[in-house]
Amino acid sequence: MMKITILAAYSFLLLMTLDLDTVLARELYWEKNHIELSGLTEAQVLGLETTINQLCSLEPGKLKINKKMYDRLSRFEELFGFPFNGKDLSHWLLTKIQSISYQNTWTVAVNQNQGSFMVGDFFFTKTTPLERLYALIHEARHSDDDGYEHVKCPKGFKFISSRQPEMDLEKEAACDPNDQGAYSFQAAFLFELFAYGIFDQGEAGLLYNSSILRVVPFK
Ligand SMILES: [Zn+2]
Repeated sequence: MMKITILAAYSFLLLMTLDLDTVLARELYWEKNHIELSGLTEAQVLGLETTINQLCSLEPGKLKINKKMYDRLSRFEELFGFPFNGKDLSHWLLTKIQSISYQNTWTVAVNQNQGSFMVGDFFFTKTTPLERLYALIHEARHSDDDGYEHVKCPKGFKFISSRQPEMDLEKEAACDPNDQGAYSFQAAFLFELFAYGIFDQGEAGLLYNSSILRVVPFK
């Protein structure tokens, strides 16, 4: 009888420990920012946490481009309201998210209704770490004000979506009518990565170019 009781108590303790481990394994920022996670596997939550932790660890360091060009083209501080650094940026991102759920979508990520993020297989399996970072920043901007919805790209638009080759941008709401929307935020972030040589400078530069050309000065 005694043995069984001890065994039961031991099993209970073991269960408690396992449970605590699971809870402790999650990053505290989800709870702190009241972000609800749903339909995601543990591996997918871990994937999201890796992305956010990576964002948090970004530091500018030394400029790897001409200072005059940096001053001319950098818009990060103007748009985000603080100088480029991963700590403030990850905080900025987390405050724009209300929930993240798993749902397969045609795009990398979607932000509906001011902070309801949806991510699917494409986000977890078909993107590079850099793409996951700028995709989240892009979506986060859709949480602000009226959501900064995209508009159709202009007739005769000459550019392509290299990651979504089936998409004809002339027919898609995949451009911004002014320089305050999600593509501007995405581009401003990519520009800092390019300027400071974080990640692959060439990749960041190409992605900056293809992001900034979605910002169309519509008349
Ligand atoms: Zn968007």
